[in-house]
Amino acid sequence: MAALVIAEHDNATLKPATLNTITAAARCGGDVTVLVAGAGCDGAAQAAAQVAGVAKVLVADAPHLADQLAENVAAQAVAVAGGYSHILAPATASGKNVLPRVAALLDVAQISEITSVESPDTFTRPIYAGNAIATVQSADAVKVITVRGTAFDAAAATGGSAAVERIDAVADSGKSSFVGREIAKSDRPELTAAKIVVSGGRGMGSAENFKLLEPLADKLGAAMGASRAAVDAGYAPNDWQVGQTGKIVAPQLYVAIGISGAIQHLAGMKDSKVIVAINKDEEAPIFGVADYGLVADLFQAVPELTEKLG
Ligand code: FAD
Repeated sequence: MAALVIAEHDNATLKPATLNTITAAARCGGDVTVLVAGAGCDGAAQAAAQVAGVAKVLVADAPHLADQLAENVAAQAVAVAGGYSHILAPATASGKNVLPRVAALLDVAQISEITSVESPDTFTRPIYAGNAIATVQSADAVKVITVRGTAFDAAAATGGSAAVERIDAVADSGKSSFVGREIAKSDRPELTAAKIVVSGGRGMGSAENFKLLEPLADKLGAAMGASRAAVDAGYAPNDWQVGQTGKIVAPQLYVAIGISGAIQHLAGMKDSKVIVAINKDEEAPIFGVADYGLVADLFQAVPELTEKLG
């Protein structure tokens, strides 16, 4: 039994989701190896070597791996796959791009978005937008798995001292090339890693009104989120969407404002530790999952709450 984790990183540092994936990999039994495929990626490799529970770090460093195009990273993973019983990556946009290719190249089924490891061949994963949990058993020789980060604690970033081994980089697939990247800049925490999230829904009424949530988020040091209805209406940017087709979050505190609580929204936030809902409709389904509910007009309640927070 041995697990290979494909690191998500920016060449200098590891993305937090990699730490949760390492925890899942450790539960599969056997040693955990982390593959860092990048360019000038010593920083990320050293970070991976320090993660508690990591036995070995494989580093493939080449210019064509700089932007971690899925075709190249998948080929790199397959090149070292021999000897591993499990290959895992975070169920992020990046991991979901790479792992299906790995599974196809190895001719095995992918096991998607696991939320627990029951045994080395048996895992649980949500289905029907999180309304049911499926227990799946795989007979494949290699289990190719994406990991839902919110279901596993992050491995400690320090305390490990894994060996770092340089490996040959695979040739550039030539199937895709990196054109450019536009990165949204924000002083707020990243949505999926934030301890507090303030989310707005269609009830906010307009993009202008949505700004009402900013002072509240600022006071709480929160990331901002939104329902799909709010995103579709243009009140909030696309990458703020929480839910089945958005981001999955599980912060310490989730504040849902003017959000009805459709199952597709709940699928992305119902594992939050404490849920607060503000809605003028006392029958709104969000109150079914809320720990604290306030039946009120948000345009009165939000400024009042923000002011009381000092
Ligand atoms: P609404 O359901 O319209 O609710 C607005 C709420 O605001 C109401 O409860 C209302 O009482 C309240 N309100 C209005 N005015 C005020 C006021 N002044 N003060 C206080 N409260 C007020 N949705 C997601 O969010 N994320 C997803 O990822 C997602 N994926 C989907 C995938 C599929 C395949 C499908 C079919 C749907 C998906 N949806 C998703 C959409 C989902 O079904 C709902 O339509 C959506 O979540 C509703 O958003 P909402 O709660 O903001 O709007």
